[in-house]
Amino acid sequence: MILHVATTNTGKLRDFAFAAEGLQADASGGPVQLATLPGLSALAAPAEDQETFEGNARLKAEYYARAAPGLLVLADDSGLEVDTLEGRPGVRSARFAADLGRSVETGEIDAANNDALLLAMLEQVNRRARYRCVLALARDGVVFATADGSLEGEILTDPEGAGGFGYDPLFFVPELGCTMAQASPEDRLRLSHRGRALRALLAGLEDVR
Ligand code: IMP
Repeated sequence: MILHVATTNTGKLRDFAFAAEGLQADASGGPVQLATLPGLSALAAPAEDQETFEGNARLKAEYYARAAPGLLVLADDSGLEVDTLEGRPGVRSARFAADLGRSVETGEIDAANNDALLLAMLEQVNRRARYRCVLALARDGVVFATADGSLEGEILTDPEGAGGFGYDPLFFVPELGCTMAQASPEDRLRLSHRGRALRALLAGLEDVR
């Protein structure tokens, strides 16, 4: 079974590929293979204007599956939910600083978002947060499976570590005792919300070829 992933983000592809390694998912016992959706870069990206991760993942999966008849198309939406901010930045994670009216230079988006998060969390005692990923699998424009994966953590008061991307330097993972930006590549891949979502998705599929 080949899942055609609707992303050009190499970090996401790596997370998915790691999670799929060794998994047997289709009715004939064949392995799961992941490939970038053919022709993806020539397609205009749809506006991710839904209020939930699932809404955006479904919207992307339907859109890209319509453009690639017959193929199994996997789309995702992910982000950070902070309890004390009532789940924000959530679906707006990539645009948190811009939404707050800050001018954000290209190439500085992660730093600006982390600054915005630190400011929003100033003096907050409850620092619980989670990364979430929702996946949608579609064929011929119709979504037929979705799944959710998450990773619990806490927002630090200062960034730590230089690895990873996005909010990783502020995202402390208690079970690792460090931030995601300090975690080894193996731990990152093992715990990834994307990997968890993919394993859940595949576990729920029975007869897909
Ligand atoms: P999207 O799924 O590409 O829309 O990603 C949304 C945003 O969520 C990213 O730009 C990051 O700010 C944040 N995000 C999602 N996954 C991760 C992660 O694994 N580490 C750090 N930040 C993440």
